[in-house]
Amino acid sequence: MVNTEYTIVEPPDGYSAPGFFATSIDKVVGLARQNSIWPLPFATSCCGVEFMALMGATYDLARFGAERLSFSPRQADLLMVMGTIAKKMATIVLQVYIQMAEPRWVLAMGACASSGGIFDTYSVLQGIDRIVPVDVYVPGCPPRPEQVIQGFMKIQELVGNESIRRRYSPEYKKLLAQYGIV
Ligand code: SF4
Repeated sequence: MVNTEYTIVEPPDGYSAPGFFATSIDKVVGLARQNSIWPLPFATSCCGVEFMALMGATYDLARFGAERLSFSPRQADLLMVMGTIAKKMATIVLQVYIQMAEPRWVLAMGACASSGGIFDTYSVLQGIDRIVPVDVYVPGCPPRPEQVIQGFMKIQELVGNESIRRRYSPEYKKLLAQYGIV
């Protein structure tokens, strides 16, 4: 049976009266951004297969406004790195991140992307936070789709509460500078 019940997102905090509602621009922009995130799936191994389940009908990430996957960094908001990242691949991840327009967020999915996982070897990057700033880590090998959804919802929380000035702040510029990104 087709479910015809829809949930409408809550309006942001503000002041309301009949025919009148006022809030701040930060909250409106945050609300729009958090419900229309375009992910870029950077999948190199088994966690990528779990991501396919996440996009399928059962888990259906599209429910969060994220059905439009972007394979062009310039049209992506969220870099989702899933799988083992060899050191040779690290420069590609960095290049993709640099090509993404601000504001951009990063989710490390699974043990390999977060910490190198079981591959404590000379050739594997021991976590993508060595090359790009990470917003949310999802543990597991592989994480279940429910865990990734929880991580995605954490990203939505960050996106919704972020000030539109943050990306111009000295703190943010300093963070990027620590990664050698200008
Ligand atoms: S965390 Fe586990 S499932 Fe995910 S890429 Fe690494 S080895 Fe594969």
